[in-house]
Amino acid sequence: MNNWEVMERDLKVNWHPCTQMKDHQILPMIPIRRGEGVYLEDFEGNRYIDAISSWWVNLFGHRNPYINRKIKEQLEELEHIIFAGFTHWGAVRLGERITQLTGLDKVFYGDNGSSAVEIALKMSFHYWKNRGETRPLFFSLENSYHGETIGALSVGDVGLYKETYREILLENRTLPIPADQSEEETVKALTQIRQIFERETQTPTGNPISALIMEPLVQCAGYMKMHSPQFVAGLAQLCREFNIHLILDEIAVGFGRTGTLFAFQQADIKPDFLCLSKGLTGGYLPLSLVVTTDEVYQAFYCDYKEMKAFLHSHSYTGNPLAVAAANATLDIFETQPVLEENRKKSQYIWEKIQKFKELPNVKEIRQTGMITAIEMIPYPWQERRGLVVYQYGLQNGVLLRPLGNVIYFMPPYVIDYSEIDQMIEVAYRGIELAQTQKWG
Ligand SMILES: *Cc1c(COP(=O)(O)O)cnc(C)c1O
Repeated sequence: MNNWEVMERDLKVNWHPCTQMKDHQILPMIPIRRGEGVYLEDFEGNRYIDAISSWWVNLFGHRNPYINRKIKEQLEELEHIIFAGFTHWGAVRLGERITQLTGLDKVFYGDNGSSAVEIALKMSFHYWKNRGETRPLFFSLENSYHGETIGALSVGDVGLYKETYREILLENRTLPIPADQSEEETVKALTQIRQIFERETQTPTGNPISALIMEPLVQCAGYMKMHSPQFVAGLAQLCREFNIHLILDEIAVGFGRTGTLFAFQQADIKPDFLCLSKGLTGGYLPLSLVVTTDEVYQAFYCDYKEMKAFLHSHSYTGNPLAVAAANATLDIFETQPVLEENRKKSQYIWEKIQKFKELPNVKEIRQTGMITAIEMIPYPWQERRGLVVYQYGLQNGVLLRPLGNVIYFMPPYVIDYSEIDQMIEVAYRGIELAQTQKWG
């Protein structure tokens, strides 16, 4: 079978995520037959460097031999069980490791990022309710992204995904973000935010805000916008001062993407809730975690008849295969100098992309750890210049998937230096081409 045949049959039956399906009349879909390391291979043997880690999930390459083996071993023992009233060894291990690594106390399981966000929002609201307060609102940041389910979308702020559904979303309070990572902009934003805190948390009927939810250091779906660790620390401080929870959504930035295992470690703070997914299983299987404190846990812990338990569940909660993939991923972090190697790679990438500044259509380059973004000048969105770069990338063996006018690299950590060179070279030429070409 060639690519074309697979695509034709696919389009007869499948509806793909985040896609205007009509685009596929002119934009070929790429059927992938196998993966290996940073490479994806289509049905005709063309290979693509997966420069976006298959939507930010893959950490140690496709078909990683170690993770493969660990999942196969688990498969021979147990594929799935109910996680209410039952447990399994992998979950014990994972819970112990995650609490140890995060400095938090309790782990609740979900099966995707959006559900982790829903869980954290509900838990925070429910915590206050169990303590006798009703706090129906959340603070979230401008330009944030927390997933696609109704609750998660309500605390997000990327218009492209949100606008259509406005009438059915929950009410929310949005806070400004700093224009960049500088101290000046950080202080400016924090000053404005303090005023909003003062206004919104003090009403005649009490404090209506349960929590602030944010993506620390990098707003990934929000066009890879970055802010300083001081901004995260400042918000954590405000949350403490005004007695609301801090929910950190590290679904995209967790597991080393920002240079430390978790982004919040750079701000030297402790959240009340930490949402993890994506890289958690090395990009193998859907799983998410909400990690929280003993203080939160204790607000639910009482005699059954008090009716304070958190009765949320998902069918695949704590799936043993996904948990095995997560434990295997942590094994790799434990046994190999991943973060140290990444520091060298991100430094190398940063040096190499300096030349992008020479391109007249490049507005800004920025980097946090293993996330590097190149922002083109603000072309009208209808011109879809990013798509020109995408298409050029595919024709030249690199999967880049720009967010609007922002081209970014978020490769699997196993990428080597020659693959980095190729990824950067192709992106450079693609952006060059986008000076003169629009889409369609
Ligand atoms: C991807 C993402 C989510 C949603 O996760 P899904 O598994 O796609 O539901 C939430 N928050 C952030 C920051 C993300 O990048």
